[in-house]
Amino acid sequence: ARADVARRADELVRLVPDYPLPGVLFRDITPLLADADAFAGVVGTLAAGTTGPVDLVAGMEARGFLLAAPVAAALGSGVVPVRKAGKLPAPTASQSYALEYGEATIEIHPATVPAGARVLVVDDVLATGGTAAATVELLRGCGAEVVGLAFLVEIAGLGGRDLLPGLAIDTVLTVD
Ligand code: AMP
Repeated sequence: ARADVARRADELVRLVPDYPLPGVLFRDITPLLADADAFAGVVGTLAAGTTGPVDLVAGMEARGFLLAAPVAAALGSGVVPVRKAGKLPAPTASQSYALEYGEATIEIHPATVPAGARVLVVDDVLATGGTAAATVELLRGCGAEVVGLAFLVEIAGLGGRDLLPGLAIDTVLTVD
């Protein structure tokens, strides 16, 4: 069933060349999200990839939210939005990381992440790994235990795994 979910995801994730910048091949998951069976299959696969209890699922703004919330519901876990800087109203913990050009900052509400919480990180695409590594740092800064990361698509050629040493990484679809 997992192979079928991956095959369907490969069919439905749309490739958009030169978006948002020249040279980037963007993986657009909206056709997959709009397909009820494919969406359910992906959510089930991401949820099934973890072993052991998960207290919280952390999802990165914005497409990560669309996967993290249903995965959390499937696991019976809470959900933590990892947001771009300046969006969260209460006291935040923040982490900056390098982009190809410049820098980005992400934030969470640390009061929602208790020390010792077992957290699964979910996003749509693992590319360079910068976003995921910064998310892991944020969660560990709260005293949480990152039990794994789950992605719909891993762009293996960008080496994102290298920034996530020792972590369990599960991906539905791996591309070059
Ligand atoms: P990175 O930090 O380089 O691993 O990039 C991961 C974040 O950027 C994820 O939140 C993705 O949604 C987005 N992203 C990066 N590259 C792509 C791509 N080729 N297609 C779609 N989304 C991407």
